[in-house]
Amino acid sequence: MKNPVLYNRLALIGVGLIGSSIARAAREQGAVRSIVATARSAATRKRVAELGLADQVVETNAAAVEGADLVIVCIPVGACGDVAKEIGPHLSAGATVSDVGSVKGSVIRDMAPHLPKNVHFVPAHPVAGTEYSGPDAGFAELFVNRWCILTPPPGADSGAVEKLAAFWRLLGANVETMAADHHDLVLAVTSHLPHLIAYTIVGTADELQTVTRSEVLKFSAGGFRDFTRIAASDPTMWRDVFLANKDAVLEMLGRFNEDVSLLTKAIRNGDGKTLYEHFARTRAIRKGIVDIGQDSPTPDFGRTHAGLPHAPLPKPYASGDD
Ligand code: NAP
Repeated sequence: MKNPVLYNRLALIGVGLIGSSIARAAREQGAVRSIVATARSAATRKRVAELGLADQVVETNAAAVEGADLVIVCIPVGACGDVAKEIGPHLSAGATVSDVGSVKGSVIRDMAPHLPKNVHFVPAHPVAGTEYSGPDAGFAELFVNRWCILTPPPGADSGAVEKLAAFWRLLGANVETMAADHHDLVLAVTSHLPHLIAYTIVGTADELQTVTRSEVLKFSAGGFRDFTRIAASDPTMWRDVFLANKDAVLEMLGRFNEDVSLLTKAIRNGDGKTLYEHFARTRAIRKGIVDIGQDSPTPDFGRTHAGLPHAPLPKPYASGDD
């Protein structure tokens, strides 16, 4: 059965990893009749046209939103306010305006005042990504079986919210709705703090004088390698996330520092019981993530190890009787 066409004209402002993935998925699912796209730089606009990601590539944000019934702003959160100011006067009555920013409170604070009363503002955050950026990095399956969190402001039109939810479901996502400040607290611990830790560890290793860079790279499979993937994420995007979600991140960082102090004390005192109990608890959390289908149960994140004599066994970690 053919999918329903949900919107007539989708305008994408910013066509990086997320914007280009939306374009690919929306087209593949027939979720919209046409796509118009724009990006800040001429180089990205040219690439978007070459890749055929949109029916039309235009030069300005104002031109992109003309006649669109769905506008999705896919740029770093720190730039959303200026863009809202630019597009506000050009939006069509009844259009839905959304975004994909990793922080919601600041986006609502910065965008809402510039949007006319006759449009529906439904902020969103697809919790899906990779460490790559730009229009070449996107792919249609990015959102499949991932969550998309909608944070409509109080009083938002329920029909517009439900329609945007249906759009994200067509792209493969599971949709949840929550208040923006709650979103920012949850994501501070599940995404923002892990990124900060990864950025810190990779930086610390880089600055160690007594361990050479070649040793760090050579023995990276000991755990460091997995942090380097996260720490390779886009610096502009993450700078903006920490500036925009300052309070929630500081709250989580405070708790994290307390827990590091407890583990530091346990190591200093030779307190194996505390260490074991803590690690057993965290192993169970990993098992929970695998059980709900948010990651692969295969060892080492399913990395294939060319040259190994045997395929890795499926489940030495997190087995049911651990
Ligand atoms: P990206 O691949 O780096 O693409 C960013 C896009 O925004 C590009 O088209 C870029 O244009 C444009 N842009 C950058 N700065 C701008 C500015 N000051 N004004 C106007 N446009 C600007 O980034 P992305 O990964 O798609 O991230 C976009 C948004 O999605 C961010 O808000 C991020 O928080 C959110 N998000 C990211 C992920 C992830 O894992 N990457 C996951 C979920 C949500 P040019 O190419 O012309 O410079």
